[in-house]
Amino acid sequence: MRYSRLFGSTVRNIPASTKLVSHKLLYKGGYIREIAAGRYTLLPLGARVYQKVVQIIDNRMTELGSQRVFTPTMHPKAIWQKTGRDKVWGKGLMTVKDERTNQEFALAATGEGLFTEMVKEFKPSYRDLPIYLHQFSQKFRNEKRARGGLVRIREFLMKDAYSFDADATSFAETYKLFYNSYEQIARDLSIEVIPVEADNGALGGDYSHEFMVLADYGEDRVIQCDSCGYSANMEKAVFIREEVNKDEEIKEYKVAPLPAEVGTIKELVAHYNLPAERFIKNVVYKTDEGKIIIATVVGNLDVNETKLSRVLALNGDLEVATDEDLASFGAKSGYVHSWGYDDPRIIYVADESVVKARNLYGGYKTETTDPINVNYSRDFKADVVGDIVDTPEGAKCARCDKGTLRIKRAIEFGHVFSYGDFYSKPHNATYTDKSGKNQYLLMGAYGIGVERTMAIIVEAHHDEKGIIWPEQVAPFKYHLIGLDQRGLDVYDRLLGEKIEVLFDDRDVSAGEKFADADLIGCPIRLVVSKKTSDKVEVKKRDEAGSLLISVDQLLES
Ligand SMILES: [Zn+2]
Repeated sequence: MRYSRLFGSTVRNIPASTKLVSHKLLYKGGYIREIAAGRYTLLPLGARVYQKVVQIIDNRMTELGSQRVFTPTMHPKAIWQKTGRDKVWGKGLMTVKDERTNQEFALAATGEGLFTEMVKEFKPSYRDLPIYLHQFSQKFRNEKRARGGLVRIREFLMKDAYSFDADATSFAETYKLFYNSYEQIARDLSIEVIPVEADNGALGGDYSHEFMVLADYGEDRVIQCDSCGYSANMEKAVFIREEVNKDEEIKEYKVAPLPAEVGTIKELVAHYNLPAERFIKNVVYKTDEGKIIIATVVGNLDVNETKLSRVLALNGDLEVATDEDLASFGAKSGYVHSWGYDDPRIIYVADESVVKARNLYGGYKTETTDPINVNYSRDFKADVVGDIVDTPEGAKCARCDKGTLRIKRAIEFGHVFSYGDFYSKPHNATYTDKSGKNQYLLMGAYGIGVERTMAIIVEAHHDEKGIIWPEQVAPFKYHLIGLDQRGLDVYDRLLGEKIEVLFDDRDVSAGEKFADADLIGCPIRLVVSKKTSDKVEVKKRDEAGSLLISVDQLLES
């Protein structure tokens, strides 16, 4: 490919909103452009990387016995309704209506329902199992926030695979097979992953693992125990709560004076000279279905919205309540009470830490007072008690009871799920066993986002000058810079051998060509100039040194 003919070019300036290094470099290098929030065009360079990532994943799926299919983007909404997934996904699911027939469709956000229906139609017998199917298809997820360039987008290509097994033993083998394959795919793509226990979220089912890549600015947080190796994502991680103030005797509830300007946990800590964990903190949310949730935790902990949703088995998204929402039940910011409102929309939820704490401060702030020595059960009760907080850095591991938990930032590369009969039961998807009886199929699902994978590779392989593509996913193996007439001869010879080469034939300075080669990041740079005489200078993108060899030697290498 001649660079002068390549559509899209490098740029020096980037939009101020780009934060992740992968976003910056893919933008500057001329790989991607955003057409609407969270919707990206892959320019020709980006498209080449994308195709290679797809091929690598597809090869591994084929190797483990999965067969590739293609399915429609528009799913009859009835499929989603069978498992109530339309409600659970809420606004995250994009829907369209056929104006001729009034039939409603959901744009594919995932494919469990569709694949379950597909397999069910063939009435498999135990001899046909397990069945492994996969596809690469465009997915639509109306994320609350699209961010991080290709990391969290609203429309993307996903490889999703689905497995159907007869029994738990067979499913365990299937799960292991895909799990191992995911680790292998990560190695194929030159990325290092950490498998962690994860939350199934809106997809339902019983357990799952995410394959995480550590990244300083990753949007996910991974918890790791320094002793037993326990790894989980923040939404799933469990820890041992210290019993706050456990040695003090239970004291009498008192309403104490408190100046109005003392409101935040920080201000309370300074005012009373007590640690943050001694104070009650309330966070208010509203749900898609119009409920108000008052979440009560101790002051040093933060509410985890996914855990809160799970504890309440909520559908759709949680939004932090606005001042208007607070006013609607007689509260205002900084003066939310942990009990006492007379409004049927309100659900009080307390974290386990609140239940175990003694003589807490706060929970019923007025302009001039706030109670002290507040004890759960004696002084107030929530409708629901559960684990609704982030695991704090340095907490004690609940798995081994002795290690310390550390938080690391990460990006999710892949996710594998065990569903049991979560989908097959409502879809009535069965197989006939040896005795001729119908049994529910046991299902698993396995996803990798292709655009996000591109971002992860760049996060892992770059320097201050640009991208350093691993050869197997690079848009071109060679980036040829011709500084004299011979450049064209070398280009023609490489093309004749069907070697992937990007030839910078532009009439610009050598410095500009070198800078662009570093930014675009092909693994090997070739330079032909008067200085190289009849030879070619070969330099690897990730090494400082170079060597001079003949074109014949280059073709043999
Ligand atoms: Zn541990």
